Amino acid sequence: MCKIILGDSPMDLLNKAYGECFPYLLPVRLDISLTTDCDINCAYCWHQKKNGSLLTYESLAGIIDLLSLKRPPRLNLTGGEPTIFPDFERILEHAHKSGIKNILLCTNGYRLREMDFAERIIGLGLTALNISVDTLDSAKFEMLRGYKFSDFEKVLKNCLSLKEKFPNVNISLVSVMSREVTPDELYEVKKLCISNKLGYFVQTFDNTKYREINKRFALRRKERREYLERLSWLDGRVGDVVKRAQNPLTQKGKSTRCYKGITTVKLSSDGSIGFCWQSKPVGNILKSSFIEIWNSEAARRARAYIRDKRCRCDFDCDVFESLDLYDII
Ligand code: SF4
Ligand code: SF4
Repeated sequence: MCKIILGDSPMDLLNKAYGECFPYLLPVRLDISLTTDCDINCAYCWHQKKNGSLLTYESLAGIIDLLSLKRPPRLNLTGGEPTIFPDFERILEHAHKSGIKNILLCTNGYRLREMDFAERIIGLGLTALNISVDTLDSAKFEMLRGYKFSDFEKVLKNCLSLKEKFPNVNISLVSVMSREVTPDELYEVKKLCISNKLGYFVQTFDNTKYREINKRFALRRKERREYLERLSWLDGRVGDVVKRAQNPLTQKGKSTRCYKGITTVKLSSDGSIGFCWQSKPVGNILKSSFIEIWNSEAARRARAYIRDKRCRCDFDCDVFESLDLYDII
């Protein structure tokens, strides 16, 4: 066991935590998947069977309060569709009052077609919005996302008004790269973002539990190569992402540390806690306290798994998030 030396910098502690698989630091990022329920119907949804949420306002407020005691973390609210979680607005308000200054909402955007709602949640403390859109081809949009393109146009119009009214709120569009969209379609979304000063990034379709869906949407290795050859225009977030060894976009062959096991908490709608959406949970806050889970043997093993680079950290695995956190430690 390594010793903490008085005067160790947070970075020293982070590296010791990484090496020892022991959390010398509290996490600086809390990602919560509030529910698996959704108000739209994407063709490639990971949650074909929606089973709501076991999280309660009290369980969420408890973990937010605990992690905010010393240094409030960044908070990312996702789903399913987080805005339809019954206590969504209460949680937002609670997080803001607990001192959390960075609150990101990852949403399908559907509820943002109501401007009153959009303005209200920003008033409650939201600081960033990621809104899903894969293509501006109306028929394809409707086939992929399962709601009317005319509604998406309302969402977009409202986002542009929000951008003007609340210039400090970061608004980005997010596309899923899959066999069903072409690089040119993604590029159209990106151009729209550039011309309207919105952020933009792309995630690759991640395999679901459903074979038929994977067959239809997952890019094969050869197809990925074709995408990559055509993605030289991707000079934004995806192009900048720093990833581990086998990442074909950047850092080829270079091994990058992932600090997620120390920096990040992923809380799922069934109460389970993990470090990364791609890894197995290490406990459940509905059964044990967060501190027990955070210091548990299961957590240590999961950290060792990450440290020893045994993860399936594929294509768009978001290891860059833990690197981002250097800035705020
Ligand atoms: S927005 Fe997300 S949760 Fe909702 S249907 Fe689409 S993929 Fe599923
Ligand atoms: S899958 Fe990637 S981002 Fe996730 S913990 Fe492993 S290395 Fe980190």
